[in-house]
Amino acid sequence: MGAVDLPALIHGEATCELSWRRWLAETRCHELSVQDWLPARARLVIVAPHPDDEILACGGLIATHVTQGGRVLIVAVTDGEASHNDSPSFNREDLAYIRRHERWLGLRHLGLSQPMVLALALEDGNVQQQGSVLLQRLMSLLQPDDVVVSTWENDGHPDHDTTGQMTRRASAAIGCACLAAPVWMWHWATPGDARVPWPRLRGLPLSAAAGLHKQAALAAHRSQLNPRSADLGAVLGPAIVQRAAWRTEYYFI
Ligand SMILES: [Zn+2]
Repeated sequence: MGAVDLPALIHGEATCELSWRRWLAETRCHELSVQDWLPARARLVIVAPHPDDEILACGGLIATHVTQGGRVLIVAVTDGEASHNDSPSFNREDLAYIRRHERWLGLRHLGLSQPMVLALALEDGNVQQQGSVLLQRLMSLLQPDDVVVSTWENDGHPDHDTTGQMTRRASAAIGCACLAAPVWMWHWATPGDARVPWPRLRGLPLSAAAGLHKQAALAAHRSQLNPRSADLGAVLGPAIVQRAAWRTEYYFI
């Protein structure tokens, strides 16, 4: 998830996961059809601010595309080295190494035998200051027939927001399809929240197999699921782990 000294929107308890499920079931947002917008021949490019965001944002979509023989490239914006800044148990260099390995293991669980990861190694927690570098790198690697997914640009975490903004700008310039996945939004927003563009939200139903692959992939991120130290909880709390088990993924079009 990234740095744990989190900005204003992301603090305290997450919005109750059950209240989201109830509201989403009533709201019945439009469905995305994978066949319509993600042909098997297309390259799916995931721009992930931190290791684990590719799973939390779109792990089921990746597993689905791999099953239909599609190619996947992960653009790893940072190595997530700042997630344990306030823990005495880890230094940043060790944590970056651990999280790169967890990312690789997680992607293997999504069906990628040799995951293609382009690591940009921007500084975790400081992507906002490196937005122009990120934009340039994306402009040089995206191709018009790619389908691109990143975090939503109003997700509430500066790294997620900048990644979303730069991915949208690069995709528009190159002419590729781009979707934005909310990750932290589910934490700070409430059902029907006026700050969220609900008419743009689409649901992608996952097969049982894709859902199971996603959960196995998330379990590989042990550094984020285990307590950071004797008196610091896990980075990923119960609500986000429960949301990762939903059989629908949500994207803003
Ligand atoms: Zn993150």
